[in-house]
Amino acid sequence: MTNRINIMNDEQLLQYSRHIMLDGFDVEGQQRLLDAKVLIVGLGGLGCPIALYLASAGVGELWLADFDDVDLSNLQRQIAHSRTDIGRPKVASAAEAIAAINPDTRIQCINEKLTGQFLTDAVSSVDLVVDASDNFKTRFEINKACVQAQTPLVSGAAIRSEGQVIVFNPQDDNSPCYRCLYDEGAGDENLSCSDNGVLSPLVGIIGSLQALETVKLLSQFGQTLTGKLMIFDAKIMEWRKLAVARNPQCPVCGNSTDS
Ligand SMILES: [Zn+2]
Repeated sequence: MTNRINIMNDEQLLQYSRHIMLDGFDVEGQQRLLDAKVLIVGLGGLGCPIALYLASAGVGELWLADFDDVDLSNLQRQIAHSRTDIGRPKVASAAEAIAAINPDTRIQCINEKLTGQFLTDAVSSVDLVVDASDNFKTRFEINKACVQAQTPLVSGAAIRSEGQVIVFNPQDDNSPCYRCLYDEGAGDENLSCSDNGVLSPLVGIIGSLQALETVKLLSQFGQTLTGKLMIFDAKIMEWRKLAVARNPQCPVCGNSTDS
């Protein structure tokens, strides 16, 4: 590369050396991470490993959105929070854990429900959104905002002993959106871990995959899971990968104007 101005200092070159030495990642890939802003919705079982990995990987700015406080029952799986955080806002606890790993990470804490225009504005202000929420209503709303703002969305879910990950990229004409995959009417079932239970390390596996896809998308490294749904059954240790097609009739990303 010629004429490239390296703005990483020596400490950063050392800190991120295991990225930089990767073939195809290089200084450029790391610089893209440092320049990126990512919104993480939900600082629970998925959001905790996502936030910790993205901070340690060097993502420049993290927007943390969660309106919940840390509860004793969270500590079984939400690894950014500790015993002394019980009763504190999850965003405050996660922000502290991130700062301990990487003090250079810029953090925006959103300690309220991210919805409506507030959500739209946040999604338009970042380079990528990671959905680590625990209910269908929020997932559909995040998806709609991402399609409108053309912001890539890394979606993950884990419940009981099953998890899944998929990437939606509105900047890619062939990419489906969350609404292409799921019917809004089918989302009545409450799929939260608090109601159904979840295996502790399962959320770590799924959250780590979401962080991995985020790092790949931002650094432009390798092939991403855009339009490909990974499904993991921890009980029988089985992975499946399904192609998800874009639905031309999708009311959110489709061409139809009658919705
Ligand atoms: Zn769609």
